Amino acid sequence: MRQTLVAGNWKLNGSLESIKQLVAGITAGAGDTGNTQIAVCPPFVYIPLVSNLLADSKVDVGSQDISDQEYGAFTGEVSGPMLKDFNCTYAIVGHSERRALYGEDDAFTARKFAAARKFGLIPILCVGETLEEREQGITEDVVARQLDAVIELEGIDAIGDAVIAYEPVWAIGTGKTASPQQAQDVHAFIRGKLAGLNPGVADKVQILYGGSVKGSNAEELFAMADIDGGLIGGASLDAGDFLAICKAGN
Ligand code: PEP
Repeated sequence: MRQTLVAGNWKLNGSLESIKQLVAGITAGAGDTGNTQIAVCPPFVYIPLVSNLLADSKVDVGSQDISDQEYGAFTGEVSGPMLKDFNCTYAIVGHSERRALYGEDDAFTARKFAAARKFGLIPILCVGETLEEREQGITEDVVARQLDAVIELEGIDAIGDAVIAYEPVWAIGTGKTASPQQAQDVHAFIRGKLAGLNPGVADKVQILYGGSVKGSNAEELFAMADIDGGLIGGASLDAGDFLAICKAGN
């Protein structure tokens, strides 16, 4: 039985004061979220603070990105060992905003995935199609291509030590959620594809759904057989809504 994981992606939001308040709100209610695993992914500069504040809680910390490099002349980058220094557990790789706005392609995302693993972080690999790709009927091709880049570099077993987040780009930050069945169809495709390579990995890997998840729609999404939790953007900035999503995981 896979545990439910709810991970908040705070993106480029928050200030010193608002983040302290958000963390206080989350820690106040985290104890009432049953077995749901919880993680938050703050902007890099707030990771030391958030890690400290969450040290005695059940909430893990992740990064929104990671360098594919370990150290050296790579201005602006943050490496796996640096993230480990501040107790990060997870690193998001291949978020659609990184892919679309910063030109990060499948191969680069695969190298970031590899870097996360190499330095002891659990990669949260984001995959998903744009609206145009869905309308062309190539959703599965796109998702398969994004997964294959990682499998080719790291091997199928590596997926078993990672988390996958299916995030249809048309549902991110738009208020348009994929219906539970639309999401389940793609999750089942992903698990089926992995099962063809290694059934144990397919059975083990948590596949999260992301795209306008809120307290009001989380339960019906998480009830689907192959949806093991969520990657949450906007709603993770509100402690009450985020905790409601976490509770829906039980
Ligand atoms: C995300 O960016 O990972 C995301 C799912 O955003 P939102 O929940 O705001 O759609």
